[in-house]
Amino acid sequence: MATPEPEDKQPVDTENLNPVHISRYQFDRATQHIDQLKHGLIDFLKSPKRTLSVCFPVMMDDGSVKTFHGFRTVHSRVLGPGKGGIRYHPEVSKEEVKSLAALMTWKCALVEVPFGGAKGGVICDAKALSHDELRRITRRFVTELGDDIGPYTDIPAPDMYTNDQTMAWIYDTYDIMHPGRNNHPVVTGKPVDLGGSSGRDKATGQGVFYATERYLSEGGLPELKSLKDARIAIQGIGNVGAAVATLFDQAGAKIIAVSDSSGGICVDNNEGLNVDSVLEYKKINGTVVGLPETRTITNDDLLEMDCDILIPAALGQQIRADNVDRIQASLIVEAANGPITPAADDLLVSKGIPVIPDILANAGGVIVSFFEWVQNIKHEDWKLDEVDHSLRVKMYRSVDIVINKWRLLNEVQTSKETPEEMTPIDLRTAALVLAIERLANVTLERGIWP
Ligand code: NAD
Repeated sequence: MATPEPEDKQPVDTENLNPVHISRYQFDRATQHIDQLKHGLIDFLKSPKRTLSVCFPVMMDDGSVKTFHGFRTVHSRVLGPGKGGIRYHPEVSKEEVKSLAALMTWKCALVEVPFGGAKGGVICDAKALSHDELRRITRRFVTELGDDIGPYTDIPAPDMYTNDQTMAWIYDTYDIMHPGRNNHPVVTGKPVDLGGSSGRDKATGQGVFYATERYLSEGGLPELKSLKDARIAIQGIGNVGAAVATLFDQAGAKIIAVSDSSGGICVDNNEGLNVDSVLEYKKINGTVVGLPETRTITNDDLLEMDCDILIPAALGQQIRADNVDRIQASLIVEAANGPITPAADDLLVSKGIPVIPDILANAGGVIVSFFEWVQNIKHEDWKLDEVDHSLRVKMYRSVDIVINKWRLLNEVQTSKETPEEMTPIDLRTAALVLAIERLANVTLERGIWP
């Protein structure tokens, strides 16, 4: 009988779609490029600090009672309070929440905001629920989380199928539970007249825009130096995707295809879609499909289109081993969290298609959330220009440090001895190396307690 290989010698399954496996695989890949990281520290950095599972009943509009399940994970508080969105989706799971919380940890560390990572979600189909049902679910979920969230412990924000209205309910519920103090910083992404920040609604899309603009101007794609006339395909035209479409269009890019959960549309002319008409049609009809003078396509067609830049802005795991060969984009910018699996990542590297990774590309949301939190604590109200300027400075700087790290790591690779060791490093690994190094340093600076 063959002796089983030790765990670290076994071939790694890069297409295991368990979200926790994916985030650990990406973490482990990055730590191979960090010298002198203690094993115990590695285990600590990749393990979530705590996960809360809750289950609660809600009275539905028709008088029936339904039970809902929700989760909140704080992955790390090394840099500051936990920070991360709450999503409402039928596919929310404890595993997904844990992996998205880890992603938030690396994102905050990379872009140097003093937050740890967190994430939450409730398993529900938000599209099939009424306004009142969503309000009751939100209030009850927040009550179940109790003092596990707080302005200095864990601060929620919007994510898929949650928005500024959801954040207003979270604030109101928490404020009722903790009267007599400034509770505004307990949640970000609030409506502007309830302590929200100017520019938070478009912040993630604005950050995607700044990251792409900087990457191109720094020579990331030699054949494309700016967004002018660049052909863009966007999967998911929700909060983030709509802002991305508007901003890229304003910069002179051509939005040639967009999609939502019902399907996609594209145009075959050189002008691209009229973004205002797309958003207006979506507002009235609930989908982009059917917009006059456009051709209906599937979400798979959209991902596989011949375009300069593909921007996934919907769900995770959209580009996998089974479809990556058909990707024709010259650059992929991850507006969504986790849209590319590790196996697809490897194949994209070998095809020479760069990916601006989620922890960098979509960090605009958490950066402006941090600005909102600061404004709430200081009772300030920053103007949109100030928010956009500060966001641009942070995004440009983050892109620059990732590109520099990526160059350094690739120089080290080319100096190695065997072809296997010389595998090129992608931007995701470079970004993760920076984030993990920072978190490891701060953990040791604080000192292992006691
Ligand atoms: P949203 O709910 O506003 O929009 C999601 C969009 O995706 C909708 O248009 C929906 O129709 C579409 N969609 C759903 N399933 C789809 C499918 N199978 N194919 C194509 N489209 C589909 O959510 P959002 O806030 O725009 O978030 C989108 C992504 O960006 C998520 O991955 C989220 O985690 C990430 N993100 C959001 C923020 C933020 O500030 N909102 C910040 C960072 C990352």
